[in-house]
Amino acid sequence: MFNRRYFLRSSLFSSLGLLAGRKVVAATPVQRPLVTGQPVVISTWDAGLAANKGAWEVLSRNGAALDAVEAGVKVTESSQNCCVGLGANPDRDGYVTLDASIMDHEWNCGAVGFLERIKHPISVARRVMEKTPHVMLVGVGAQQFAVAEGFPLEPAVLSDDAKKSYEKWLKKAEYKPVINIENHDTIGMVAMDAAGNLSGSCTTSGMGFKMRGRLGDSPIIGAGLFVDNEVGAVTATGQGEDVIRVCGSHSVVEYMRQGMSPEEACKAAVEKIARIKKEKAKDIQVAFIALNKKGETGSYALQKGFTYALRNNNEERMVEVKSYF
Ligand code: ASP
Repeated sequence: MFNRRYFLRSSLFSSLGLLAGRKVVAATPVQRPLVTGQPVVISTWDAGLAANKGAWEVLSRNGAALDAVEAGVKVTESSQNCCVGLGANPDRDGYVTLDASIMDHEWNCGAVGFLERIKHPISVARRVMEKTPHVMLVGVGAQQFAVAEGFPLEPAVLSDDAKKSYEKWLKKAEYKPVINIENHDTIGMVAMDAAGNLSGSCTTSGMGFKMRGRLGDSPIIGAGLFVDNEVGAVTATGQGEDVIRVCGSHSVVEYMRQGMSPEEACKAAVEKIARIKKEKAKDIQVAFIALNKKGETGSYALQKGFTYALRNNNEERMVEVKSYF
């Protein structure tokens, strides 16, 4: 049953957020189980609101979670002024290179890495999953596969915003491979459909001004994304190298399997990264968002300022996330 007190509280928080000019809710959401069969989608950062809308068009018509997570992040990949897709920041040699992964409720997964000039890497990742015997294709091979599958090869040009940022970066050209709260470039999304099945997607241009050829966690199944339809679905954002080190999203799923709530599970993985990084932990951002089989959602970040977007039958809002620091 829909809980009226919860609704009133979340409406009040939403109004406060709107009054403050930000559509952000004040607290991590109460862990309230949804009625089984209610679809839900969550995705990282503010761009998640628009992405969730795309996913919701599928979920609200009883579509499959897999179709929803593909459609959702394609919205972000298409937005030229955002932080994902061909409009995003290039690597330090001036080329935009994209990474993406997708996973469904039956352990099927696909990924692409170091992919250039293709507008929708998430859809190429899905084709890898559905049309090849492999999980991941990278670089020129991934591009050749995409073109053979009918994806147009887009012009190799930077968006106006990316050109400006790159020119600014070139003035010093200092190589500082750090992802913190100002410098992040990923959308990760996990969803449950009306049939109760889970899927997830993750797509990124990776770290801005990265070394050419660098891959982060986003295309790596178990690191940037993991789905176990018996337990839950998780995706990550932040410093990819540190998410890879602890098989981040897979770890969060396993913590949920042990009985932790989504937020507790994300917190356990973030704390592990903090322990490993020691004093360097304060310089980076890492965050996880998680959805369990009951439809409960949660998240935890290393640094303050991380938010995720939530959409279900009852609400559509941003959620502020608790952090280690
Ligand atoms: N995790 C991504 C990477 O390391 C970047 C991000 O989430 O901002 O490539």
